[in-house]
Amino acid sequence: MGKRIIYMDHSATTYTKEKVVDAMIPYFTRHFGNPSSIYSIARESKQAIDTARAQVATALGANPDEIYFTSGGSESDNWAIKGVAYANRKRGNHIITTTIEHHAVLHTCRFLEKEGFTVTYLPVDRYGRVDPADLEKAITDKTILVSIMYANNEIGTLEPIPELAAIAQKHKVYFHTDAVQAIGNIPIDVKAQNIDLLSLSAHKLYGPKGVGALYIRNGVRIENLIHGGGQERKKRAGTENIAGIVGCGAAIELATADIAGHNARIRSMRNRLMEGILDTIPHARLNGHPTERLPGNVNISFEFIEGESMLLWLDDEGICASTGSACTSGSLEPSHVLLATGLPVEISHGSLRLTLGDANTEEDIDFVLEVLPKVVSRLRDMSPLYQKTTKDGGSHV
Ligand SMILES: *Cc1c(COP(=O)(O)O)cnc(C)c1O
Repeated sequence: MGKRIIYMDHSATTYTKEKVVDAMIPYFTRHFGNPSSIYSIARESKQAIDTARAQVATALGANPDEIYFTSGGSESDNWAIKGVAYANRKRGNHIITTTIEHHAVLHTCRFLEKEGFTVTYLPVDRYGRVDPADLEKAITDKTILVSIMYANNEIGTLEPIPELAAIAQKHKVYFHTDAVQAIGNIPIDVKAQNIDLLSLSAHKLYGPKGVGALYIRNGVRIENLIHGGGQERKKRAGTENIAGIVGCGAAIELATADIAGHNARIRSMRNRLMEGILDTIPHARLNGHPTERLPGNVNISFEFIEGESMLLWLDDEGICASTGSACTSGSLEPSHVLLATGLPVEISHGSLRLTLGDANTEEDIDFVLEVLPKVVSRLRDMSPLYQKTTKDGGSHV
């Protein structure tokens, strides 16, 4: 028998739900026609895309002709930012974003800086929240776009999007939000919330990988990112990923059907996990906002610990989690998000992110609450700094 796996990394990706896979399968086998063709099997593919587009539009409060399918969150972010930048460069060259965005946004902005655009990176407070007053102050007559994420993928903090978008609208500046982590967790209505562009990805909401969408409000001036054929109403070339698009539509419909019920269940497990860890493990601090956070997100830093070692020990117990530092080319890069909240580098290395989702149970929480304190104390027993500091009775937190 294989060992029991406890998956607590739903912000990295989710499994694809059975119902979603069932909806996709016929589009690999029976309904494989290219929707640009005119025979009847092609019409079936075209109808499937129309249905999926309507499902995504309904979930966001948008019109179907404002939804464009893409290869996922990264492409949607690239398209929104580069597309608006290039199409509006005569109006201005200034873009505003934040220091805690996903790399799909940050690296796109860095690229545009080399192309002659100026980017303001708004700071966040210790909880990871942007102050709307800072946005108001940063807008100039050269500003063409504001891009601020709905919910942060590392610390789970929710940004005050309706308030921020209203400020952009008042100054006639386009407002884009990366809502990849928020959809299915927060009710979103792009019209009521003054959102001009919104990125989403299917594999973060129990759909397949490699497909997502960009909502573009009718009237937004935007350049194409992928040039070629006339697909997606001449805005995004390439033969459609029909099965993926069907999966994206089915997944978003399921994910937004009962947000309140989903949140209540996940949040109650999350709170027990979060409080259990903070109550039993000393020298631990919660990252992100105590209440304004994604229902499934726990992010805690443990002093005197190295995150990667913690992950290996947890993996040994079948627990899948992630840490606040990524091992890139052999060196440990502290998370830009944790550093932006003011967390010292050495503490950010000892961060653990557990993200709960639909497959988790109360037994999973019990198991992590049993295993994690042992893992942390075992690692601390090996740390000379911890031995010394606890003898002195001191702590950084
Ligand atoms: C996962 C993620 C992305 C990237 O989406 P992909 O579909 O994997 O390209 C972008 N932004 C956020 C906030 C994410 O969590």
